[in-house]
Amino acid sequence: MAAMTVDRTPPKVGLRIGDQRLTSGSGGEHGHVNPCTGKVDATIPLAGKVEVDRAVEVAHEAFQSWRATRPATRRQLLLRLADLLDANSAELSRIGTLDNGMPNASGVMPAFSAEWTRYYAGWCDKLSSDVVGSLADGGAFSYTIGQPYGVIGAIITWNAPLLSLAMKIPAVVAAGNTVVIKPSEATPFTGELYMDLVADAGFPSGVINMLPGTASAGQALVDHPLVKKVSFTGGPVTARRILASCADSMKPVVLELGGKSANLIFDDADVPSAASLGTALSCGMMSGQSCNFGTRMLVQSSVYEEAVSRAKAVAESFKVGDPFEPGVLAGPVISEAALTRVLGMVERAKVDGARLVAGGNRLGGDLSDGFYIEPTVFADVDPDSELAQTEVFGPVLAIIPFETEQEAIQIANNSQYGLSGYVQTADLRRALRVAEALDTGEVMINGAPNLMVNRPYGGFGVSGVGKEGGRHGIEEFLRVKGVGIAG
Ligand code: NAD
Repeated sequence: MAAMTVDRTPPKVGLRIGDQRLTSGSGGEHGHVNPCTGKVDATIPLAGKVEVDRAVEVAHEAFQSWRATRPATRRQLLLRLADLLDANSAELSRIGTLDNGMPNASGVMPAFSAEWTRYYAGWCDKLSSDVVGSLADGGAFSYTIGQPYGVIGAIITWNAPLLSLAMKIPAVVAAGNTVVIKPSEATPFTGELYMDLVADAGFPSGVINMLPGTASAGQALVDHPLVKKVSFTGGPVTARRILASCADSMKPVVLELGGKSANLIFDDADVPSAASLGTALSCGMMSGQSCNFGTRMLVQSSVYEEAVSRAKAVAESFKVGDPFEPGVLAGPVISEAALTRVLGMVERAKVDGARLVAGGNRLGGDLSDGFYIEPTVFADVDPDSELAQTEVFGPVLAIIPFETEQEAIQIANNSQYGLSGYVQTADLRRALRVAEALDTGEVMINGAPNLMVNRPYGGFGVSGVGKEGGRHGIEEFLRVKGVGIAG
């Protein structure tokens, strides 16, 4: 079998500060648990406050020359990095799987990451300002300048480490900032190769620094006075802590958080394909561990049972297993704690009266040591129940019936989250009406999650603050100054 020949040795991890690669840190060590086996497969050094302080100082120093570096030079460096991401696609995919147990054989994550990097390379020399007042107005001749902040503290989670790096770093440095980034200790491997590629691309020392660490390193980064803005991807509990820490100094933040996105399937949609794709991209791919999946499938009553039986068929045929095995589409969830949490939610959904249609169990046999869960589908979910209101971040889909467009919008918006929304209908007017009515940061019409780089991405409500992607994504890292010349 091809899977048997894959090298499953993770790379050695270092702390990357400027030109230095440290093999130990004041945060101690962490045993990385392979979610496929439940066993520790590597010991990694952790950054503590000492390394955070050092990295921020180095990034601050590098900022002085980076901000003055010609935009065309910044563009060229990012383009080189994008080419290197493409050239190292296979190894990045392998390491990504070792990080979090997700299959990456298609190379989609490196391809997306290269695309995000190229896109922001293109912005380096195309940023412009506005003239906002003229002497003829009887006032001051006035204009704006967008200026970099300085050091950005970036903190990411474990579900898509390479893509998370690519959604932050290129926009940050294209705008002239430098960055200290803290990946999750659960997925330390991807950052190691990424930093090798950053060096190969020729970035000046200190512009991009990487410190694997736990919450305490993240907290030290947020608290550092030379960190002028925080860009965070993770959960709302941590986000609230970060907001509280930033309150005193009024440090600005970008927060990319979770969701409980609704996928509205109307009776004039292509129901078989909408229900099939909606199931695969909620309780199948990535074992449901993606922030923007449509994990609430709202289906119009006349096509409800058809959609439920499609969802059942897709979930039951979805191939879960060793992520290196050809044909496997999803691996385990990230940790034992995640496994326990997800199975607990499954049990409570049954008690709450939801109808279990598919899955619901931990996988056994050869997979019993890993954290594998069957793709799970519940129908007849009460829109106010825990399963409809709380992000699972695991392979569980909640299907909810509705009668009218108005009711569908009301159920969809009955959520603390507001990340993504999906509308499946053949009626263009309805599609546009519903897209406007959904309280979410993005809406896909007759489609599924796709994270196009030119479209701003970022939620409303408890799903976050600020955007990644598009012009808005780079503007997050420029502060606007207004300048006036007295008339
Ligand atoms: P988490 O909030 O527990 O951890 C995320 C990161 O924050 C980790 O690197 C962690 O070490 C760090 N951290 C923890 N405490 C900190 C503190 N006090 N100060 C600074 N940093 C700290 O995230 P999680 O719950 O493991 O991640 C899953 C969540 O991420 C889900 O809610 C998911 O939807 C969300 N997510 C959102 C997006 C998006 O783009 N909107 C993308 C991926 C994941």
